[in-house]
Amino acid sequence: MSLKEKNKRINQVKLTPEQGLRAPVKPFSFRSVDLFSTTEGFLCEPDRYRYLATSRSRKIIPRGSGLSYVAAGHGNGVVSFSMKHFTRILDLNVNKRTVTVETGITIGELQNVLFSHCLMLPVLPGHPQISVGGCIACNVHGKNSFKNKNFCDWVEEITLLMPDGKTISLKRKDRGFSLTCGGFGLTGLIISAKIKLQKLPLQTMEKKVFPVEDLVDTQKQMKVLSGQWDYLLSWNDLSTSRSSGRGYILAGRFSKQDSQVASNCKYLGLNPSRKKIRLPWINEFSIPFITKLYSLNLKFTGNGDCHFWEYVFPQAHMGFYFDMYGQKGFLEHQVLVPHEKWREYISRFRVLQKKFSVPIIITSLKLFSGRKSFLNFSGNGIGFTINIVNNKKSLAFLNKVDELDCKMQSMANIVKDSRLRSSVVKKQYPAYHNFKKEIRSWSSDNIYESVLSRRLAI
Ligand SMILES: Cc1cc2nc3c(=O)[nH]c(=O)nc-3n(C[C@H](O)[C@H](O)[C@H](O)COP(=O)(O)OP(=O)(O)OC[C@H]3O[C@@H](n4cnc5c(N)ncnc54)[C@H](O)[C@@H]3O)c2cc1C
Repeated sequence: MSLKEKNKRINQVKLTPEQGLRAPVKPFSFRSVDLFSTTEGFLCEPDRYRYLATSRSRKIIPRGSGLSYVAAGHGNGVVSFSMKHFTRILDLNVNKRTVTVETGITIGELQNVLFSHCLMLPVLPGHPQISVGGCIACNVHGKNSFKNKNFCDWVEEITLLMPDGKTISLKRKDRGFSLTCGGFGLTGLIISAKIKLQKLPLQTMEKKVFPVEDLVDTQKQMKVLSGQWDYLLSWNDLSTSRSSGRGYILAGRFSKQDSQVASNCKYLGLNPSRKKIRLPWINEFSIPFITKLYSLNLKFTGNGDCHFWEYVFPQAHMGFYFDMYGQKGFLEHQVLVPHEKWREYISRFRVLQKKFSVPIIITSLKLFSGRKSFLNFSGNGIGFTINIVNNKKSLAFLNKVDELDCKMQSMANIVKDSRLRSSVVKKQYPAYHNFKKEIRSWSSDNIYESVLSRRLAI
């Protein structure tokens, strides 16, 4: 739609004073990426600064690209306030290696511009369509969390639209900064952010797969490889309760010389809210078969050179994966386990998997290092991720895994797991009560709410 048509539409919509929002608001059915949550809310997509306003009479939640696995950017009766029209690069200082952007810009769009200046975002989650606002509000990580920690470790300053309508600038030392970074959009709308960049040595990446025997061996080898490689991620086979956990470490580092690798910086757009037919191709019977095929594919295509984009965004062309679970979707559980607990954790986990006989389609490890802060998924340890089919058996299994996580002083990623209860989060995150208190006292106009904030009782 052209800008002229857009303006015409905006002018046609009359808002009642009670609504208070200056841009049109339309009813909208939202779904989270894991398809676990469906909500009936409202969508507001302002396209100019004077429409960036809050309303004391409406519950609101900021929205980036709507790609959170959980319903962090929507809720029943809540207005999702989208930043999709705010995508400008406001300042790029190549010498100082900083960029200031409007937070609706996607990391793919931004990285594409940075390529021509031989610069890169130091932390990139797995899909180019994710917005900078979403990266800050969920303090996301990439495949190099053992080196570069989390996204917000590279954010220097943010501009925030407060619940009372005022705009403030927050630097790292300010009280609201750490509350907003990983604050799930509950402190206000992040309008712009200044981010520190890194030099991009070359656009060619060297990738190599290292075979591993099991999950303990994976941890051991990853620790050794972390000294020589820039990015590390594992893929392990836990497709049946008898599987050994054998698999590969997928290592990547910047090549010493540029080679002729194709740079196809495109992606398959994701839109979980779109109504469509989704057939459950991924199920108990197909999982072992799909796993075998995937393992063979890694073995034969896992070594060689590739473009930086292909390496950091492996899911860019695999949007169909999320639809393959059918209409009920899937469950992701990601947990950060202290290094010294890993051996015991995984042996107890395997006992539970056997007991519940749950096939796991994706099992992956990442190394983490960093500082814990409020409800952020950050700190030191092994990041362990699984994807399973959403059914009664899986839910019962994950309830037991929650207990194991608590026993092993591990913490689950709040923005990846739609069924995580507040009682579990309270046990795993000692800062829960402090975060809640700070959010409540942040502003007397408590207008920000989502399915996530309601479930966690924040
Ligand atoms: C294919 C895929 C791969 C992924 N890989 C990774 C990964 O490797 N590592 C990782 O950590 N995560 C990963 N994620 C999760 C994703 O990075 C986060 O959920 C991210 O927050 C999604 O950003 P979004 O722009 O879609 O935000 P939304 O889903 O729209 O919103 C997410 C949260 O951010 C808040 N928010 C968004 N914009 C703003 C703003 N401008 N101001 C204030 N609050 C705001 C919302 O209120 C909400 O709470 C992946 C997701 C997908 C779909």
